[in-house]
Amino acid sequence: MQVVTTNSELRLARNSLPEPIGFVPTMGYLHEGHLSLARRSKEECASTVASIFVNPTQFGPNEDLSKYPRDLERDLRLLASVGVELVWTPTPEVMYPPGFQTWVTVEELAKGLEGASRPGHMRGVSTVVAKLFNAVGPQKAYFGQKDAQQAAVIRRMTKDLDFPIEIVVCPIIRETDGLAMSSRNAYLNPEERQAATVLFRALSAAQSAYKKGERNAETLLRTMTEIIHAEPLAKLQYVSCADYDTLEELETVRGKALLSMAAYVGKTRLIDNFVIG
Ligand code: AMP
Repeated sequence: MQVVTTNSELRLARNSLPEPIGFVPTMGYLHEGHLSLARRSKEECASTVASIFVNPTQFGPNEDLSKYPRDLERDLRLLASVGVELVWTPTPEVMYPPGFQTWVTVEELAKGLEGASRPGHMRGVSTVVAKLFNAVGPQKAYFGQKDAQQAAVIRRMTKDLDFPIEIVVCPIIRETDGLAMSSRNAYLNPEERQAATVLFRALSAAQSAYKKGERNAETLLRTMTEIIHAEPLAKLQYVSCADYDTLEELETVRGKALLSMAAYVGKTRLIDNFVIG
């Protein structure tokens, strides 16, 4: 497995890899969720490139950029164990040299959910992914359903900007008690870790209500909200029942819908979602 930092090293290494190339962008501190994307790429592509970059432009001024967990050595071991051929670890200076001022903005899809709670976050994501796509030039790119809005934004951007890349969205990998795997779970103390299953429990309850015939979005949202409120360590930021494609809030669930939420457990902000219908 080759590990490179600069754009020119990347280009050289990438051009010697057999195609199709699958690409797995990450912020590191890898877990089974990330590795599931790399394994899927290994199954479907001749070569797999992963990137590790904690992207400063997708963090707000009061967010956890400097504290974000990092362990490059362990990440590289894990990626090598899956058989990844090339890892790109650009520095902030490589990605954002002095004078940088060009942004990619996906307008409507980026407005609600995470976009509404974290101003500038989605613009940071779409911009960095566009740059990663240009540099790596993959045929396929792998994203997790865990970040549902991010996947929707990237799919839209790829279409709108004519990137010749197929976007593959992979299922959420969970701990045995349902908690969605996340690098941020490392922040949770044992008590918070237990409480953190509340997101999964709330989504599961709404899903069962849906399966029993409930189609009223407000009722589904209330079901989720009540469960989060019953957990003293959790503080709900938003719950949403949105159209799967447009991410517009629904009154009634008819087709495919996205139930999603963000909640703080202690000081740690967690997100999760289920697709219904
Ligand atoms: P991150 O390092 O958090 O930026 O995540 C990198 C990629 O891994 C994104 O496409 C995420 O959606 C995906 N990912 C993160 N957690 C999970 C998970 N639990 N299951 C599946 N994919 C995930």
